[in-house]
Amino acid sequence: MKSQFEVYLRLKPSNNQSQNAMQYQLNHNKRLQVILPRHVKFGLVNNSRDNLEFNFTHVFDQKSTQEQVFSTVTIPVINSFLDGYNATIFAYGQTGSGKTYTMSGAETWQLRGVIPRALSYIFDEIDKRTKFEYKIYISFMEIYNENAYDLLEKRHLETPLEQWNKIALYEDDQNNIHLKNLSIHQCNNEQEGIDLLMMGNFIRQVSSTPMNQSSSRSHCIFTVTLEGCDTTSETCFVSKLHLVDLAGSERISKSQVEGNLLNEAKYINLSLTYLEQVIIALNERMKGANRQHIPYRNSLMTTLLKDSLGGNCKTVMISTISSENDNIEETLSTLRFSQRVGQLENEIRRNEKIDLEAVVKRLEQEKLILIRELEQYQRGGNVVNSNNKKLQTQQQMLPMTNGIPLNQKEITEKVELYLNERIPQLDIKSVEEAQICFEAMKDLYNTRMKEYVTELTFISEKLQKYDEILTRKKEQSSFLEQKENSSPEVEVYRRNESPQINFKKKPNQ
Ligand code: ADP
Ligand code: MG
Repeated sequence: MKSQFEVYLRLKPSNNQSQNAMQYQLNHNKRLQVILPRHVKFGLVNNSRDNLEFNFTHVFDQKSTQEQVFSTVTIPVINSFLDGYNATIFAYGQTGSGKTYTMSGAETWQLRGVIPRALSYIFDEIDKRTKFEYKIYISFMEIYNENAYDLLEKRHLETPLEQWNKIALYEDDQNNIHLKNLSIHQCNNEQEGIDLLMMGNFIRQVSSTPMNQSSSRSHCIFTVTLEGCDTTSETCFVSKLHLVDLAGSERISKSQVEGNLLNEAKYINLSLTYLEQVIIALNERMKGANRQHIPYRNSLMTTLLKDSLGGNCKTVMISTISSENDNIEETLSTLRFSQRVGQLENEIRRNEKIDLEAVVKRLEQEKLILIRELEQYQRGGNVVNSNNKKLQTQQQMLPMTNGIPLNQKEITEKVELYLNERIPQLDIKSVEEAQICFEAMKDLYNTRMKEYVTELTFISEKLQKYDEILTRKKEQSSFLEQKENSSPEVEVYRRNESPQINFKKKPNQ
């Protein structure tokens, strides 16, 4: 199924009422027309234009609320995530334009952003979907200077960023990316999820010093993994939701930084330049150019989000812009980038698989029952044989016509019809006829039992084959687990072991 990228725009409220405010017109909340200030107009190649137009799935104006952004952008994405599709929401824009405000929110519960609202919605929804059993896992990472770090690692509270373990990437034979040194936390309810988000944001803040300013110079990826199993059909799915707060998109020419900071600024811009290159390459391929190679591997962020950009993922971007003319160049560059992203589409499919382990478990239980029955029938089989002998002696006692007992054929046919409930009753006129009826019943019973035993043997052989498949699967998965756990730093810990930090709790409302 094709899924077009959706690009939303959010305008940050203007700080002042001065003439410095950006001049624009908004049509039907979809088309933004920016009236160019003189200095920008004269910088254009064709300076006869005094405005530029940009189209979006939806534009949120300066008055838009967190709730409006959440319900318009996020709910459809999360619904498809809950149905088993991968999904990604990116926030893109220059520093200070409202990416973190949109994704995480501001200080108060009322002003919470997309991520906490998404967590509430996910837990509410899975409570309603009773046909499925769900498990939710959360991880949270930061990419800073081309290194990725775990934001849910409690030891990071006590150590400076420079001493943190880096997340390592390795690719398996099927080009799947695996991560080492990233903790994954099972999460049972909304509050646990929000605590994890707050802990990650807190660790991100304490790691950010005036020297590294990592919170505006890093990308942040909050990932929710959902495992859903249909309790009736043994099909399961695993889907991933990435909620990404990108680093500030400002250009290097504007970064008034020196020395180390210049180096960092270059890095940030580099990874966003690589993101742009990936988007351009994907655009060209979509338009029919013969582009086999998409340069995902040029940066860590594009490698990690490869699927979100050009794979099996429903992708949405929220571009945030300032409403001041001081930032007009950055704003125009964000708007242009958004237009390119908006042209992309991904091929998405539901990540469904048969839960082999559940199937085999059920079959193993059935197998035990069947084997027990089989043994019973096999023991019973001797009885069947001795009954046959008895039948022969009795048949010899019946009156015979041309070697066939009198009326036996008709009576046998009638008995079969009776047993198959095709006739309501059997008319018996004599003791001999009753005797023939009983013998015919025994005969039919024995034949069916033999067929049943053959069928059971067949099933039992089939189950043995399943056993072999299961053993092979178990060997494969323990091999993969060994590979994944080969690093001593990998640690999965539960929430109740997390450090105690007093975060704001959801008020009772
Ligand atoms: P970014 O993450 O893009 O660098 P922030 O989200 O930190 O920017 O926003 C910078 C400041 O502007 C913050 O104080 C934030 O609360 C405020 N802000 C951003 N967007 C909005 C908005 N739509 N409404 C009100 N305040 C906003
Ligand atoms: Mg931010």
